[in-house]
Amino acid sequence: MANFEISVAHLYGNLMNTYGDYGNIIALTYYAKQIGVAVNYHLVSLGDNFDADNFDFALFGGGQDYEETIVAKDLKNKADQVRHYIENDGPLLAVCGGFQLLGHYMVMADGTKVDGIGVMDHYTTNMHDPKLTTLNNKRLTGNIVIKNNDTAETYHGFENHQGRTFLGENERALGTVISGNGNNGMDKTEGVIYRNVYGSYFHGPIFTRNGNLAKRVLATTLSRKYPEVDWADKLDQIETETF
Ligand code: GLN
Repeated sequence: MANFEISVAHLYGNLMNTYGDYGNIIALTYYAKQIGVAVNYHLVSLGDNFDADNFDFALFGGGQDYEETIVAKDLKNKADQVRHYIENDGPLLAVCGGFQLLGHYMVMADGTKVDGIGVMDHYTTNMHDPKLTTLNNKRLTGNIVIKNNDTAETYHGFENHQGRTFLGENERALGTVISGNGNNGMDKTEGVIYRNVYGSYFHGPIFTRNGNLAKRVLATTLSRKYPEVDWADKLDQIETETF
């Protein structure tokens, strides 16, 4: 029986699940179970309340431009709670379209500008932006490898996006691009870290292919929820895989 439990919010999981981003929750659950932590799953979608204080981890997956326009309208109603969650150090994984919508705006392939909720400081222009100096008019697609600058860990993934994301001043990259394109194909950044938010263009899903990152986020989640417990020894028991 599990001695501990965490509640997970899957934001718009029925609309934003490109390449099975839900697999991130399966991976987190798999690792959590090994150390006696149960994971309670909640889908939070159109019209639902996102009561930030009820959740210990949130996933906001990727979607295509069309789904993003639907989600963007509803997300405005949840913006205050999402901001509260993030500023209260809630752990959140945002992938691709989800990553884009947390920023100021994203421009679709057809040039339509979609408002994000601006709870983070990045913005996303499109593949036809005349300011791009490389890879104009091309989707950024293929395998990608990055190196995390804090831990020197290497992360592997698959990217497929037309949006070009540029990070804000208080944001740092999840990693530096070793091979592939990353946020915009220009500045070698991939993804974002802000407080306990991890954003990325990686599908795969990122936690199944990069168990080391899943473990790191699980550690953050558990230390925040149960600060009185010494998690280091327990987490050491988890063997992760990277491929
Ligand atoms: N619609 C976005 C883009 O292409 C996000 C794609 C995705 O989530 N895979 O930029």
